[in-house]
Amino acid sequence: MNEFYICFMNMEEQINQLREELRKHNYNYYVLDNASISDYDFDVKLKQLQVLEEANPEFYDANSPTLRVGGAITKNFITVIHDFRMYSLANSYSKEDLEDWETRLKKMVDGEIEYTCELKYDGASISLTYENGLLQRAVSRGDGYQGDEVTTNIKTINSIPLKLKGDFPKKFDIRGEIILPLEGFKKMNEERIEAGEDPYRNPRNTASGSLKLQDSAEVAKRPLDCLLYQIAGERLPFDSHFESLEKARDWGFKVPTIAKVASTMTEVIEFLDYWDIHRHDLPYETDGVVIKVNNIFQQEELGYTAKSPRWAMAYKFKTEQAVTVLNEITYQVGRTGAITPVANLEPVALAGTTVKRASLHNADQIAKLDIREGDTVMVEKGGEIIPKIVEVDLSNRKPNSEPTRYITHCPECNTELIRQEGDAKHFCPNTDGCPPQIIGRIQHFISRKAMDIDGLGGETVALLVTNGLINNYADLYELEVSQILPLDRMAEKSAENLIAGVEASKQIPFERVLFALGIRFVGETVAKKLAKHYKNIEALANASEEELINVDEIGDVIAKSVINFFSIEDNRNTIHRLKLFGVQLEISQEELANQTNKLSGSTFVVSGVFVKVTRTELKKIIEQNGGKVSSSISKKTSFVIAGDKMGPSKKTKAEGLGVTIISEDEFLLMIS
Ligand code: AMP
Ligand code: ZN
Repeated sequence: MNEFYICFMNMEEQINQLREELRKHNYNYYVLDNASISDYDFDVKLKQLQVLEEANPEFYDANSPTLRVGGAITKNFITVIHDFRMYSLANSYSKEDLEDWETRLKKMVDGEIEYTCELKYDGASISLTYENGLLQRAVSRGDGYQGDEVTTNIKTINSIPLKLKGDFPKKFDIRGEIILPLEGFKKMNEERIEAGEDPYRNPRNTASGSLKLQDSAEVAKRPLDCLLYQIAGERLPFDSHFESLEKARDWGFKVPTIAKVASTMTEVIEFLDYWDIHRHDLPYETDGVVIKVNNIFQQEELGYTAKSPRWAMAYKFKTEQAVTVLNEITYQVGRTGAITPVANLEPVALAGTTVKRASLHNADQIAKLDIREGDTVMVEKGGEIIPKIVEVDLSNRKPNSEPTRYITHCPECNTELIRQEGDAKHFCPNTDGCPPQIIGRIQHFISRKAMDIDGLGGETVALLVTNGLINNYADLYELEVSQILPLDRMAEKSAENLIAGVEASKQIPFERVLFALGIRFVGETVAKKLAKHYKNIEALANASEEELINVDEIGDVIAKSVINFFSIEDNRNTIHRLKLFGVQLEISQEELANQTNKLSGSTFVVSGVFVKVTRTELKKIIEQNGGKVSSSISKKTSFVIAGDKMGPSKKTKAEGLGVTIISEDEFLLMIS
């Protein structure tokens, strides 16, 4: 074996070892919920693997952990026929329904019947095909016979194993539900609201909408999860459904341990009663329980009806609904000027809380249900943040009732509302004269993730605005203690704190200032991207739409919004004033100094131990200066930075390929 061949082997092994290691950490974290590595170390290893894979494309693996981050775009999803049909479930709504079902079962099979009870997860169903332990494809349910292939998107869901462990069958399908846990859903919505976008309505629709997104990197950002509940295949290695769930868990799947075997219908009913109450404590939504005959031979004897297995039954929990009267429809104006109609209800008890208000979303929603003031309505609490009206009781409508006429003018400033194509909502265009918009923008500006102004809260902002002391966020920087002291409940100390907080905010870095400006669709992440790319506000303000779209992850909606923001003279003036006051409108000298294009086009391999900087720092410096870091030497390597104890084989290889070897000092000189 020659030296080159040995090198070759080592590389493949190294890559496989990293993949294996990352897989294990991934499993521990996402399936077992038990982290075995810090996020930082995980990212470093993942990056390392990415670099190795890029430099050695011959070792490509369609199931590598690096594919979890997404990036592939699917224009058209292809239709795939399921090897095993995905059936619906028969539904039951009462304990009597379940007892009737058992009576039917007993006529069709001999012997005792045991049941498995599982929760019915509320999301989008998916069928995953594994062959030789590798995920081959993921197909949505579709009409049950055929669905869409969404494999690239599904691979970004961390709890779905790409490679199985243990003693799995050669080929099988496994079915599960793609869900969006409540906490992740809440966080996604907080970010949307901060960016001035409408929140998603509920976790279920958001999860199912995620499957068909064209950009898998977008899917990767969503905190989706997958809970598995059914295996389909031939000659499978188990005799009961419960056993199949345990096996699936052994192979690396996330199968909730809530599932339980019940040997009588009474025990089934205990399970239902328990979860009817405790479902509210779960981290995800469930709309019922699925009861399955446990014994696989009995299942086979029972077979299927035209639509569903005879051996399974869904039991739906009652959605919590209440009947009340809609007293009045009022309209809220958000900081972006978006109008949200709100139903003010006669207070009513629902799911443990008293409900006084429900969201009506927009004009179309009101028209669709023909909701009117004075109506008797049914409210329901689903995954939504605030309850919604699901039905109007027309039989109770008063004879003098009039259809709701949606407002045409802003309830706060009386400006005529506009509704642009593609927007479900009406907007008040009076950006600078409409009080809730003025107050909302300043409140956003001072918020924790933005300028984080200590000593100033949302209510004080409103007070300052209504007292005519400020009208936009730049005005904050001209406030004086003597002006704010006369305000209600403003003590000397708090006034001083406020001014000090405003002063301190001048140190907040550019990316956060950019977020604080409240440009629609420019959330925290987008602001970071733009700050890094444009480096200062002038460059951003002068960018054309095409240039903006060319920035990584910036689409035309964001680009248009940025252009629009800077086209408004008042905005440009405000920014000019912020600049005069000393607010950071460019990335800091330090950051800037660290960022050049000096090394662009050069690929570096770092090897050995260093004295002045660590290996990690060295790599960071290379990337900050536009260079690329690779971990293996090839013809494409421009320089090898050799530290102490550099491996002899690396040295031979570099020399053999004629790659320049430089020392740590020589490198630092290069970028100084
Ligand atoms: P339905 O859509 O009401 O006919 O209910 C059938 C669907 O429930 C299936 O297609 C699955 O996606 C979903 N489901 C959720 N949890 C389970 C579970 N534990 N067992 C079987 N199906 C489930
Ligand atoms: Zn207005």
